[in-house]
Amino acid sequence: MPELPEVEAARRGIAEQLAGRAVTGLELYRPRLIQAAPGLDLDLLPGHRLLEVGRWGKYLWLVFEPLAAVVHLKLTGQLVARGGSIPGFAAGHPVPPYDAPLPHKSTALRLDFAPGIQLYLTDVRHFARVWLLPVDEVDNYVESFALGPDLLSPDFSFETFCRRLERRQAGRLKPTLLDQSVVAGIGNIYADESLWQARLHPEQVVGALSEDDLARLYEGIQQTMRLAVPIGGARILHGKAVPPVGEFPFVHGREGQPCPRCGTTIVKLQVNGRGTYLCPHCQPAPVGSPLGAGATQRLAAGE
Ligand SMILES: [Zn+2]
Repeated sequence: MPELPEVEAARRGIAEQLAGRAVTGLELYRPRLIQAAPGLDLDLLPGHRLLEVGRWGKYLWLVFEPLAAVVHLKLTGQLVARGGSIPGFAAGHPVPPYDAPLPHKSTALRLDFAPGIQLYLTDVRHFARVWLLPVDEVDNYVESFALGPDLLSPDFSFETFCRRLERRQAGRLKPTLLDQSVVAGIGNIYADESLWQARLHPEQVVGALSEDDLARLYEGIQQTMRLAVPIGGARILHGKAVPPVGEFPFVHGREGQPCPRCGTTIVKLQVNGRGTYLCPHCQPAPVGSPLGAGATQRLAAGE
């Protein structure tokens, strides 16, 4: 699923290459993509400019003169811009390949910008959504999702992070990081990467974390974002990290490969139904937990 780094790559591409340009046309291939407030329609866009683009967690919004479009790429949404004299960009889910001919059979929407530029929203699973709203309702709408601080925002301080976790003392670490009301932007890939950076087990109970654990976790999230955002996210295809080995992502999608830090074989287990990758040496099961020492390996071996 596109997470913060992928959605941020889309935001930057749109801000740098499309903002200020006028919409010249469009084609809506899949009408169910759109949920519109009364009186609003994509057909209002041609002739009007894209004024600005914003993002909070995995939500992206494009503000045009007559309306705003709030976009969530969900599991497999992808945004690709090409044409005209822009360098172009591609962000989000890696299927279809970023250089595939467009429109693809799963393309849901094409927006045309002057001069000769196309922005495609393609989504192989059809869960992505675009909400059309009056411009002055965007802030309220995004706030209605009660998202925690965005990971790239100055609001995501260590103090704020600890305060958000205080309300989740009984929770286990990975599901807590995936909860967008705690912090906004982490999904399955970057939760695994952040926990590996922090040397913490995904099933550790939040309330059992020491001050030092919390500091490592906060730094692990920051470090993961510093690695992932500039490259537009990890390259994961069909659940496997695309080589080269030893480069980002370090554990996610790398079952059976050596941990880049200690060489121990990376294992995959299920945490709340989500495929979870970790190094059993760097991220030992919490002391006193029913998992116990060695349980991670036994679980991974299917015992
Ligand atoms: Zn390790």
